[in-house]
Amino acid sequence: MKGWAMAADIIDGKAFAAEMRGRIAEHVSRLKADHGIVPGLAVVLVGEDPASEVYVRSKGRQTVEVGMNSFEHKLPADVPEAELFQLVDRLNDDPEVHGILVQFPVPGHLREDTIVARISPAKDVDGLHVVNAGLLATGGDAMVSCTPLGCLMLLRDRLGSLSGMNAVVVGRSNLVGKPMAQLLLRDSCTVTIAHSRTREIEALCRQADIVVAAVGRPEMVTAEWIKPGATVIDVGINRIDAPERGAGKVRLVGDVDFASASEKAGAITPVPGGVGPMTIACLLANTVTACCRQNGLEAPEGLTA
Ligand code: NDP
Repeated sequence: MKGWAMAADIIDGKAFAAEMRGRIAEHVSRLKADHGIVPGLAVVLVGEDPASEVYVRSKGRQTVEVGMNSFEHKLPADVPEAELFQLVDRLNDDPEVHGILVQFPVPGHLREDTIVARISPAKDVDGLHVVNAGLLATGGDAMVSCTPLGCLMLLRDRLGSLSGMNAVVVGRSNLVGKPMAQLLLRDSCTVTIAHSRTREIEALCRQADIVVAAVGRPEMVTAEWIKPGATVIDVGINRIDAPERGAGKVRLVGDVDFASASEKAGAITPVPGGVGPMTIACLLANTVTACCRQNGLEAPEGLTA
């Protein structure tokens, strides 16, 4: 047994997300009772990617379960850009729609950045619009990307104040790494962003009180990267072959080698059941926040960054 061997607390994202959905449902029923408003989320799916269809169904079901309106729009894979934009424009103008999400990836003839730019920043519940990225960076009331928002909520729940902590975010995507780093900075962490060109990445992570891995490389972050007692958030979702489960079977693993890292970390999110469930819960939370802001009401405490 190594000197540092201990069992980390498992951060139960599934349970936290369920509790959050309960709080969201309460806010939604108060909005209805006090103001006659029902938050609405519109999801646009282009084409027939099976994984995207599963996500969209799941988002629609959970939206309805918390008492909100769900509007699903399916467009053919070869839809011209102008037609997609017409739909987005209609949703931007529709007062019953408070959040708009276009499910990515989209077919190759469409560009994700121009689609995001077309969505009204106030309805951009994915937090991808440059206006929201700018608001997040400058301390404004941004719509924040759902996955990093979910990570932040798990971290606050586990650690309370994050002030003064050393945090390393591995990955610098616009969807996860960069907004995650901004959120941690806003909570007064000292933040380092690591990426594929970072030198001495293991040593860097070993100094961190918080490690967030958002890389897309199965089990890259091992115990050797972790300071004893650190909090580890694993964003990665990777499918790897699992011949032990039968021919052609796969299993889900994160970007963190859970078996070794969980013996050294103080707390760690599992995959599945960690960050994943928080992403949709935060999409619902963002829709309530967007609805409140569009109606001149305070965004509910505990559901925003
Ligand atoms: P991207 O591919 O957009 O970004 C990956 C980042 O990891 C890049 O910044 C890249 O660096 C960095 N990287 C790649 N290889 C290395 C390496 N060897 N060492 C250090 N850094 C490296 O991915 P996303 O941010 O979109 O997603 C990351 C992971 O999170 C994926 O597994 C994805 O499936 C998962 N995910 C999970 C979600 C959830 O709901 N739980 C939601 C969104 C994503 P560089 O910029 O230099 O290329």
